[in-house]
Amino acid sequence: MEISEKCGIFGVFGSGFEAARLVHPGLWALQHRGQESSGIASTDGKTIMVHKRMGLVASVYKEADFEKLLGESAIGHNRYATSKGSNIRHAQPIVAGSGLFALAHNGNLPETTKLEAFLKQNGVTKNGKNDSEMIVAALDVYMGQGKSMSDAIKSAYPLFTGAFCLLIMTKDALIAVRDAKGIRPLSLGKLNGGYIVASETCALATVHAAFIRDVAPGEMIVIDKKGLHQEQIVAGEQRLDIFEFVYFARPDSDLLGQSVYEVRKRLGKYLWEENPVEADVVVPVPDSAFPAAIGFSQASGIPLEEGLVKNRYIHRTFIRPEQHLRQKDLEVKLNALPVVVAGKRVVVIDDSIVRGTTSGKIVQMLRDAGAKKVYLMSTSPPVKFPDFYGIDTPDQRKLIAAWKNLKEIQEFTGADGLYYLSYRNLIKAMNLPESMFSTSCFTGIYPIDIGKRKKEINAPKW
Ligand code: AMP
Repeated sequence: MEISEKCGIFGVFGSGFEAARLVHPGLWALQHRGQESSGIASTDGKTIMVHKRMGLVASVYKEADFEKLLGESAIGHNRYATSKGSNIRHAQPIVAGSGLFALAHNGNLPETTKLEAFLKQNGVTKNGKNDSEMIVAALDVYMGQGKSMSDAIKSAYPLFTGAFCLLIMTKDALIAVRDAKGIRPLSLGKLNGGYIVASETCALATVHAAFIRDVAPGEMIVIDKKGLHQEQIVAGEQRLDIFEFVYFARPDSDLLGQSVYEVRKRLGKYLWEENPVEADVVVPVPDSAFPAAIGFSQASGIPLEEGLVKNRYIHRTFIRPEQHLRQKDLEVKLNALPVVVAGKRVVVIDDSIVRGTTSGKIVQMLRDAGAKKVYLMSTSPPVKFPDFYGIDTPDQRKLIAAWKNLKEIQEFTGADGLYYLSYRNLIKAMNLPESMFSTSCFTGIYPIDIGKRKKEINAPKW
């Protein structure tokens, strides 16, 4: 199955602007959530227009495209690359076959048995549809039966098992829906008497919208000319994917009311408290580990230096599914600075070690630049379990900590010491109860049924 995972979504209703022109900077602010394709659908109340292309926000939109994306309501989507390769066919927003609505989905449905059976019963062929396309088809079936959009959503909701934040735009409303566990983030803001819905609060700030609140797990928010109506479709229980705090979200976003930047600084502080090594310099792996390295440096008094410099024009290397391509990307992406590390004992901090490829390369780069010792630290515990809700790590065989123990990983990376933050301190850094998170990649506990995929999971080595 194609997976549409940690994407970025952004919607606007009635802010007095051409909505698509506001979605554009919103998507730019969410570029880190997906770099495969980008698209905007807008409506002037009569028709739904859509523009989507492969590539980054910077290259997908031209002035002429905005001249066609009219109206005061619009939704946009940045899609995350998947292991099944890139394809414009899967770019979003998706306009329903009926032409009645457009939809943008962030998340992943690991279990689609019920949904597929429903579609089959209603004569809809699967025809290579991915999870998002099946969601659209199911809503369209209910719309075809004469239901209103919000009734269609309520009827179809039980068919969706997995992680989903949805933005649905009809000709007269913008609707935001979140799964019952709130695995992926979604926030509501206000601008000029209208509303904005965005995957992360950093995108609200970009368009100068005021944050109102997060969309609640299990909730549907309908925004139309009459205002905002909220409805709890099912009882929700907040289980945000903790990896949003560790790696995925931008540091200038707030999640669950906590500053991502501050949380990451605490991760670094606790990493130092657990591992007070003797070292000369702290070096973050850019960009995601910067706040943690600052926290580590402030707590330890060991100076922070930019010992690894990132090429700004290279984007997240995880995006490349094939290992050999990712290795090449990393060489172009990072350089180690001899002037910072030569002859020094270096603490290098990364947010996570997933397959181990990055870490091994980085250790080697630092050694080549003359580092005397390289202590590798991860601000998160070992990633031992696959993730089906959006970290793009659905294959446990590729997770180094599932198959190698601490000593073997250290040997593999070539580091002089390897240190993972403990799970206890990961949770403590959140300043929120453990029960508010999905921690599946560290614990193997999956808050939403992953169906048949359970069979793919094995006991890790340590
Ligand atoms: P590796 O251990 O080589 O698989 O890669 C780990 C690196 O990828 C870390 O530096 C993280 O910053 C980054 N990373 C972790 N999870 C993801 C993800 N889901 N998508 C993109 N990058 C990631």
